[in-house]
Amino acid sequence: MLGSNYLLAAKELFKYNNPSVVHLIRDARQVMHRSDTGVENEVIPLWSVFLIWKCTTDCPYCVQNYSFKNDRTDSPLKGSLPPESWWLLNNLPNKPEGIVVTGGEPFLYKKLADVLIGLSGFKQVQVVTNLNIDPSNVVERVSKITTHKVFFECSFHEASIDFGTFLARATMIKKAGMLGSVRVVDVDPSRTKKYIKDFALNGIKIQSLDQVGVDGDEVLVLSNPEASNLVRKPPVLCKTKLVLFAPNGDVYNCHTKLYWADKAASFGNITTGFNIPETYLSCSDYGFCQPCQIGYMDVKPLNAFDSVGRIHHILPSNPPSTVVNSR
Ligand code: SF4
Ligand code: SF4
Repeated sequence: MLGSNYLLAAKELFKYNNPSVVHLIRDARQVMHRSDTGVENEVIPLWSVFLIWKCTTDCPYCVQNYSFKNDRTDSPLKGSLPPESWWLLNNLPNKPEGIVVTGGEPFLYKKLADVLIGLSGFKQVQVVTNLNIDPSNVVERVSKITTHKVFFECSFHEASIDFGTFLARATMIKKAGMLGSVRVVDVDPSRTKKYIKDFALNGIKIQSLDQVGVDGDEVLVLSNPEASNLVRKPPVLCKTKLVLFAPNGDVYNCHTKLYWADKAASFGNITTGFNIPETYLSCSDYGFCQPCQIGYMDVKPLNAFDSVGRIHHILPSNPPSTVVNSR
């Protein structure tokens, strides 16, 4: 076992040191998959539940604070729903096979296990966690589920937990057959390499997150800087593949508007019903797009009138005043 873990460490370090080789292999695999199956590279819609808007820590590179002033702590995103309200998701038409349960830190939501056990309308439920809270009880309860699979996507944030504690928790989840992935933000290449090696020697692969990077205190957006450089642009038309549920049940198609708790840009609520139009919608916030939604959004220049002269639905001009004040 130890020998194979050394091989894993060598392989993972090679991948980290040679990202262009990894991208070439991945692109070649995608082309082969498309020619084998005839399936275009279509983006699968992402449904994500933000159970709670609190975290156990305060990472300087947190993308959830990205569109706010750096030291903002007064997020307007408030509220909470009981598990039964989240189980309403099971009965919605056109839902995808999988759903993501996140936060903040979802383990701060007291009835997390009840939510996960009750989401039986989905084949897969992915829980995004930093493992700062001991997951044993929740893992034990959800390991008994037979109707659907639950996976834990664990992110390692070095300032919030010591390596040994995180490793022990991730290993316990792996033994229970529920470890999705372990990820790390590449804050410092020499430390990242050490983590890659130390996790691999314990049989765990980690991947560095590629949406954001860090340079000193500055958060770097790696995927599409123009969309996310916090510089306001002329309005655009935007269509996303996102259905995002805020802690109070309000439904959005955009992380930025959810994080801003921009009620006027919400499409309804899980408890009373919602409808996200399938057309492109006008948006005045291009430039503030969250790094995590690049890949799920399609933007084109604004043409406010369609071919027969009808004006498109225009989302309100954002951000709301509370957010403007906080910048
Ligand atoms: S653990 Fe995740 S959600 Fe919490 S502050 Fe860090 S990056 Fe943000
Ligand atoms: S343009 Fe950006 S901010 Fe506006 S709706 Fe699309 S993803 Fe959200």
